[in-house]
Amino acid sequence: MKSIIVLLSGGIDSAVLLWLSKREYERVLALSFDYGQKHKVELKYAKELAKIAGVEHIIVELPSLKGIKGSALLEGGPEVPSEEYHKDTPPITTVPMRNLIFLAIAGAYADAYEIDTIGIAVHSLDSPYPDCRPEFISAAESALTCGSTLSAKRKVRLKVYAPFLGMTKRDIVSLGVSLGVPFEKTYSCYRGTEPPCGECATCRQREEALKSILL
Ligand SMILES: [Zn+2]
Repeated sequence: MKSIIVLLSGGIDSAVLLWLSKREYERVLALSFDYGQKHKVELKYAKELAKIAGVEHIIVELPSLKGIKGSALLEGGPEVPSEEYHKDTPPITTVPMRNLIFLAIAGAYADAYEIDTIGIAVHSLDSPYPDCRPEFISAAESALTCGSTLSAKRKVRLKVYAPFLGMTKRDIVSLGVSLGVPFEKTYSCYRGTEPPCGECATCRQREEALKSILL
């Protein structure tokens, strides 16, 4: 059976990936992380999205990330800024090694559930985060394959499915529309307020992408 673990944050990109995976795979398991993020409210949205999509959903608790200092995305860190990101500099909202940590844990679930593919909704074109780059994804896939018991048993690669590499946010929203993604059930604000602040970079990116497609 063609199976995938999808990293689901509750935002637009991972919601589109979830719906795309539902179309492409027979078995889908969604994985979300409670890692000390200020916008922990996103987990409520992730749960609802997984329910609507009709897929199994696991929320993994990672209390240790709260001790990593300096990221505006984590509780106790600096304030989430309103300015746009600079294209070539990792922003203050970077959580060091976040995608590597998430992929490593997903790899452990992949071994335990005997699922050989992990889906991640990174898009490099307009993202300044180092762990969203294609070279990171390809290196992570190699590392996961080397460390995987499933891979050793079956002599296959543990694949990292990142279909949005090279796509813009607008492309992703456009795909989501064709897949029937319920965007109103997604959440993007890094400040974690309800309703969303409308000022932080992720709120503005979301607004722009949705407006360009849906209006
Ligand atoms: Zn916001």
